[in-house]
Amino acid sequence: MVTDGNTILAESLKKQGVEYVFGIVGIPVIETALAFQVAGLKYIGMRNEQAACYAAQAIGYLTGKPGVCLAVSGPGLLHCIGGMANAQVNCWPLVVIAGSCPEDHEGIGGFQEWPQVDSSRMYCKYAGRPPSPKLIPLHVERAVRLAAAGRPGVSYLDVPGTLLLGEVDEDKVPELYSAEPVKLAHPDPALVSQAADLLAKAERPLIIVGKGSAYAHAESAVTKLVEKTKIPFLPTPMGKGVVPDESQYCVSTARTQALLKADVILLLGARLNWMLHFGQAPRYAPDVKVIQVDISPEEFHNSIKSEVAVHSDIKPFVEALTHKLDEKKFSLEVAGNKWWQALQLKQKANIEFVEAQANDKTVPLNYYAVFKTVQANIPRDSVIVSEGANTMDIGRGLLLNNLPRHRLDAGTFGTMGVGPGFAVAAAMWCRDHAPGKRVVCVEGDSAFGFSGMEIETMFRYKLPVIIIIVNNNGIYSGFDKETMDDLQSSGDPTQCTPPTSLSSEVRYEKMMEMFGESGHFCRTVEEIELAIKKAVATTDRPSIINVAISPQANRKPQTFNWLTESKL
Ligand code: ADP
Ligand code: MG
Repeated sequence: MVTDGNTILAESLKKQGVEYVFGIVGIPVIETALAFQVAGLKYIGMRNEQAACYAAQAIGYLTGKPGVCLAVSGPGLLHCIGGMANAQVNCWPLVVIAGSCPEDHEGIGGFQEWPQVDSSRMYCKYAGRPPSPKLIPLHVERAVRLAAAGRPGVSYLDVPGTLLLGEVDEDKVPELYSAEPVKLAHPDPALVSQAADLLAKAERPLIIVGKGSAYAHAESAVTKLVEKTKIPFLPTPMGKGVVPDESQYCVSTARTQALLKADVILLLGARLNWMLHFGQAPRYAPDVKVIQVDISPEEFHNSIKSEVAVHSDIKPFVEALTHKLDEKKFSLEVAGNKWWQALQLKQKANIEFVEAQANDKTVPLNYYAVFKTVQANIPRDSVIVSEGANTMDIGRGLLLNNLPRHRLDAGTFGTMGVGPGFAVAAAMWCRDHAPGKRVVCVEGDSAFGFSGMEIETMFRYKLPVIIIIVNNNGIYSGFDKETMDDLQSSGDPTQCTPPTSLSSEVRYEKMMEMFGESGHFCRTVEEIELAIKKAVATTDRPSIINVAISPQANRKPQTFNWLTESKL
């Protein structure tokens, strides 16, 4: 029996445990997608390769098994590059496969010819082109394994049209193994003891829970550590939910203070990059001691020297540490403990400020009032996808996650446009692995614009994503209609239109009318409540809730600038 490259590729992916492929077809990968479906892979056709790439990496983060992004040659692959960089920077597993022009057209101006392997290399852990159909299984095994091994990241496979259509006798294709998952890396016991000693002696200990802990499925181990030791913890944005946000030991509402005053920090699967202010003064005490736990030793001592650097998977380390601290009978007393008292004082003041804002229902609404209403009306176990500047930052504090891997956002790379792709992936994951669970995609109006056409994908696959657009007419903030009209009529629009502005009160919810349905436009808290109730009751298609807020709405004043000033 004769088989071909497409079939071998499809069967190899299936054999390596891949479940989902997100992509856009065209020459030369139409037959490829069909072969994927025949092999039993789930194929989801999207509207832009970038969004398909975001969806595939979100599946990788949610399941631990890389999703595949399938694209056409040249521009198709190049549209994926932003997505590949995002996955690589977030440390999420992803396999990108792109068709490329027939090998005998290479160098003479082939259709959509481009040096695709070279172009991908910077954004990948591994990039290659199987030299013959027979060798496809070997390259697929390698691509899938490398994407997930160690610190997860991206693999790229280049598949020329000639390779995909190349025929070969079935019995000449070597039967390929599928390797067992890598066993968890355990910590050096001496380092566990050092970490335990340091924490036990600390006056103001703090645990930071990063998205590495979420990816590592360390939720029960980390929750147990926090509950036994009563050490305050701070989740990073996507570390939210590893320990429930509603835990009494979560000090997100005193974040600045906790970072500033801690004397020993246990860093569990988070990098001391811009998101954590590099671990440096003025955001931290200059003599803070860090216990850094990471699967990737290249990460150690990156912006400050760690006191203890443990090369380990989060879960076995945390279990060993909890055991050690148990032996020492270590536990903070919350009542009467000075560190806890200082944090609680700060928490109280911050919560009061936010509550006052959130209870202010003046129209046009402010961000806090919108998020309080959203939080009160969505199912509590929803996956929350969030992007936008203020929308994401302010929403992070008010939209709670009590379950791990239930928040997907612009991430370490700060990429806008990820939301709809992430939401498609999350909704597919819910459909197959957590039926009934909902995906709530909270978007700034600017962020939504990058990938809004994926609403059609959500309709085609009947994904009941609840899209909430927090619409302030602009990037960061915009202008009301009157001000915009005045500004624009004062001269040439290219000179007078503020670069941060978007059109006023765009009726994004009317995109629903393209599908014969209607969306929700809201100005008041009551309208938002009603719209969410209707959206939650809609289970066979997406909903759009477009909330017009005050274009001047802003974040509460912060003690420090968002990004600390450069030292150069
Ligand atoms: P956050 O955005 O939450 O701060 P980062 O993406 O900066 O998180 O950091 C996550 C870290 O977690 C990365 O340095 C990565 O190497 C590490 N990591 C990923 N998976 C594991 C794991 N299973 N065990 C330990 N560390 C992990
Ligand atoms: Mg906006």
